[in-house]
Parts: sequence; structure tokens; C-alpha cells
Amino acid sequence: MEKILVVTHCILNRSSKVERYNIEEIQEENQLRKELLNEVIDKDIELLQLPCPEFTMYGSKRWGHVKDQFDNPFYRKNCREILEALVEQLKEYDANKDKFQILGIVAIDGSPSCGYNLTCKGKYGGEFGGCVDLDEKIDSIVMENEAGVFMEELMMLLDKNNLKIEIRTIKDSITYLKNL
Ligand code: SF4
Repeated sequence: MEKILVVTHCILNRSSKVERYNIEEIQEENQLRKELLNEVIDKDIELLQLPCPEFTMYGSKRWGHVKDQFDNPFYRKNCREILEALVEQLKEYDANKDKFQILGIVAIDGSPSCGYNLTCKGKYGGEFGGCVDLDEKIDSIVMENEAGVFMEELMMLLDKNNLKIEIRTIKDSITYLKNL
């Protein structure tokens, strides 16, 4: 039986991420990435990479966003479109359960797109130049216990296609893989 793990794009390609400055946070993420990928190699697991919705819409020079900005019909439509090919692959693996086992999907908590249990929200937007309440806008950013827009769209597509695949954070995925 071949085991397949679906991962958010930036777990394999950190170059898709928005530019960040919090060194401790980056180091912690790198450590989790290493632990996850070590388990993947040790357990001989195949990887299926999700597309990055932010990079494919806004490129590498984008600002960090909050969910409120992505929660619109246009961004959601783009998420569904770039997920189409991936969902078809999942359907094929799922239809051949005698050969393939889909272990789950690894999300990135905190992301306004790919978060599962946590996503950043806030009253954020508008031009930076001349903005008199930028600090207030930045202070409005909070982590909420909900999924990001891309994950929400993915969950809807899984449901629509009757695909029962568990979504987990990186930490929970590491624990899951360790216990395999
Ligand atoms: S949008 Fe998702 S895949 Fe892209 S960088 Fe953010 S968390 Fe990673």
C-alpha cells in the first residue's frame, strides 16, 4: 500500500512565503518542517503538494494579509480553480484504495489562506502612504479559531466530492506520522 500525504505548498517550497521578520517564529517553523519531512522520508511516504493561493495571485512582493481581505468571491474562485487538478488526483487515489492510502492534509495554522484551527483576521487594508491609523489597523490583527479561506474552499470541495480526508496542523501531523 502506497501512503500519500498532502502538504500545503510552502512546506516544500518556502520561497512562496510572504517576507517575514520574526526570526524565532521562522526557526520554529523550520524545525517543525524538518521533523515532518524526516518522518515522511523514514516512513517512505509520497508527497502531494497543494498550490499556493497567495503566490499564484499576488506573487513574491505581496504584503501580509488577513482573512478579511481574502474573504471575497474573487479570491475564493481562484482558490477553487487552482485546487481543481489536485482534487481530481485525490479522487483517483481515493477510488483505488486497495493501492493508495491518503494519510491526510497538512495545514499551516495562522495563515489567512491555509490555516486550519487558526487564522489571522483584522480590520486591515487601504493605502499605507498617508494612513493616519496604520498602528490601529496593525493592532486589530488577531488570531481566530477558524480556517483560512483556501482551507475553507478545500474543505467544501472535499465534501462535494465525498472525499473523507483529515486535515491537521504540522504538529498534529508529526504526531500522527510518528504513531504510524
Ligand atoms: S498561502 Fe498557504 S501555501 Fe502559500 S505561503 Fe501562505 S501558508 Fe504557505
